[in-house]
Amino acid sequence: MRTVVIGGGIVGLSSAYALAQRGVDVVVCEKGSIGSGSTERAAGGIRAQFSTPTNVDLSVASMAVWNTFEERFGTDIDYRKTGYLFLARAPETASALEQAVEMQNERGVPSEILDPEVAREHCPGIDPEKFVAATYSPTDGFADPHLALQAYARAAADAGVDVRTKTPVTDVLRDGDGSGSRGEGRVTGVETPDGRLEADYVVNAAGPWARRVAELAEVSLPIAPKRRQMVVVDPEEPVPETDPLTIDLETGTYFRPERDGEALVGGHLTDSDPDRDPDGYDRGIEFDWAADVLETASEWATYFGPESRIKRGWAGLYAVTPDDNAILEETVPGLVTAAGFSGHGFQHAPATGRIVAELIVDGEASLVDIEALSSDRFETGVERVEQNVV
Ligand SMILES: Cc1cc2nc3c(=O)[nH]c(=O)nc-3n(C[C@H](O)[C@H](O)[C@H](O)COP(=O)(O)OP(=O)(O)OC[C@H]3O[C@@H](n4cnc5c(N)ncnc54)[C@H](O)[C@@H]3O)c2cc1C
Repeated sequence: MRTVVIGGGIVGLSSAYALAQRGVDVVVCEKGSIGSGSTERAAGGIRAQFSTPTNVDLSVASMAVWNTFEERFGTDIDYRKTGYLFLARAPETASALEQAVEMQNERGVPSEILDPEVAREHCPGIDPEKFVAATYSPTDGFADPHLALQAYARAAADAGVDVRTKTPVTDVLRDGDGSGSRGEGRVTGVETPDGRLEADYVVNAAGPWARRVAELAEVSLPIAPKRRQMVVVDPEEPVPETDPLTIDLETGTYFRPERDGEALVGGHLTDSDPDRDPDGYDRGIEFDWAADVLETASEWATYFGPESRIKRGWAGLYAVTPDDNAILEETVPGLVTAAGFSGHGFQHAPATGRIVAELIVDGEASLVDIEALSSDRFETGVERVEQNVV
């Protein structure tokens, strides 16, 4: 059985690796270089504190891999488990966090609700007066996306995957009805500038380009690129390396420690444009955005006083869906979609790759119940919005 995976980001490579492990002949087509999409621009956050059961299950299944990554792949990905700390200002936000923690605990996640004063034990720099509640989970953390991606790329190649960079997929082929019109039947392969590749399955792991790739197969998917920026800051007060990734849910600003007291700071203040062209966006930061995000962070975290200095920054693209949850399914016969991860695709890649392999080899997913991630939710109206968006 042959599968073509479109996209050499972490989702595509994790899928290719899992498929090869299950005995599938795999070709990865990547139009640029490995990681040239969103993966190399991610913050590396890994957490189980989500508000929907499916996202928590994807996290738990992925963490089983992240926790043993070095043993499995021989690469230290600098996984630092300092936890995630969510902070709520409004009672409604606090109550949503409480419900989420209850659901997370039922699924084995050791998250807890904390008084903001107690939360300072984890993150001494927050101003507890600003918040009414916090949640913390000690098994959350972050790792280096570049190292993880390269490890998957190596493991995939070692398992026999044919990884082709500078190979854009220009068309996705489907069986016709014999009338000569463009086919709407089973997917049969892809076109590339180097020629046609026939395949039993094609995987759309094209991240922010996934809507365009779906269109090549005459499929419409609600996945939009959304630009996100982040900056590395030399703060006025050093951020302890033991601090969690800390988020003020109401302003959407967050930070996490880097090394030597520096911090990575981000937030969704001024940067949303769902129709952005994934090939032609500004990869640098806007000064106004950086000033705004740092000032907002300084209002609730003492580290970021006026002497803080922005060292560098970058922008990347989230691939967002209307409910901030991925689409993971066989969309039409032979076409598996694994995209629209809405800012959590790095951390969910290990489980996603295995599920893609299950869909192709077994015909159904068993690692996690992914019914909630099928694209028909947008027609039937049963979508459940992910609340804990960072
Ligand atoms: C600023 C920022 C911070 C983030 N922080 C986090 C975080 O803390 N934790 C987390 O889990 N996630 C985070 N994310 C999200 C994460 O980066 C993505 O969800 C994840 O990288 C998606 O991986 P992917 O493989 O689906 O997509 P990508 O890495 O974008 O890979 C898709 C690939 O497909 C290729 N491609 C597209 N079209 C074609 C074609 N026609 N033919 C061939 N190849 C094609 C592209 O070149 C690209 O390399 C962040 C994202 C950004 C931008």
